[in-house]
Amino acid sequence: MARAAIRRRLTWRIATVATITRESDTARRLALRIDDWDGHLPGQHVDVRLTAPDGYQTQRSYSIASAPETPTVDLVVQRVPGGEVSPYLVDELRVGDELELRGPIGGYFVWHPDTDSPLQLAAGGSGVAPFLAVLDHHAAIRSSVPVRLLYSARSLGDVIGRDRLDGHAGRGVSVTIALTREQPPGWRGLRGRMDAEAIREHTTPADALPRVLLCGPTSFVEAVADGLVAEGHPTTAIKIERFG
Ligand SMILES: Cc1cc2nc3c(=O)[nH]c(=O)nc-3n(C[C@H](O)[C@H](O)[C@H](O)COP(=O)(O)OP(=O)(O)OC[C@H]3O[C@@H](n4cnc5c(N)ncnc54)[C@H](O)[C@@H]3O)c2cc1C
Repeated sequence: MARAAIRRRLTWRIATVATITRESDTARRLALRIDDWDGHLPGQHVDVRLTAPDGYQTQRSYSIASAPETPTVDLVVQRVPGGEVSPYLVDELRVGDELELRGPIGGYFVWHPDTDSPLQLAAGGSGVAPFLAVLDHHAAIRSSVPVRLLYSARSLGDVIGRDRLDGHAGRGVSVTIALTREQPPGWRGLRGRMDAEAIREHTTPADALPRVLLCGPTSFVEAVADGLVAEGHPTTAIKIERFG
């Protein structure tokens, strides 16, 4: 990679909020315009830095939720009650505001559509954000790689990107949603936390040799990783991103 591109990744730069859209009751998609963006791979993240008027600074990581083909770099941020940064990004940020950001970061937790291996994704809560980029990229390049997504959210109102996920399900991606706390009447998805049976029935079997990406809170990714290993998946096939 060119030296200038590496320097741009490591340097804080300005992103302008182009649009803000609702992705769930508690999450917003921030579409950012960034000059000289060199592109990214689905699964990578950025660091966002906020500076208070008194000079206090704090930073958090956010996955890139848009495919490389998208002209903006989109983040999907879920409000963590009492959090320092996410309530600001979800509730106070406005179109036209500027953010400091660096990236893209991470070369491990990415999807390269370079083999025919099936892809198994599992997300807890806002851990679905990088998979929105993966699925949009999978659609954009008309990939024939079979994909399954197992997604755990607290309630239907907390499900991020429902319309987008419905669209992907409509083109053959298998999307299974588990609601852990509250299910609406007539809910036909899974109920409660991921257990061995849910993992066995709703993920790609180990003998199909899928590549596996798990993302979300530590307790979620560890439970799913343990379940997949018990089903015979090699640990080397499983990549994990922890949001905790
Ligand atoms: C590589 C990476 C990518 C990430 N991508 C995303 C993303 O795409 N979207 C997104 O919304 N978040 C993402 N996160 C989480 C994000 O970086 C922040 O941790 C989150 O927004 C909370 O920050 P905060 O300042 O609001 O809360 P803090 O002030 O840092 O924390 C407040 C309290 O909430 C707890 N807490 C922190 N994070 C979480 C969480 N995710 N869920 C539940 N409790 C939490 C803390 O332990 C603390 O007790 C990512 C994290 C990593 C490491």
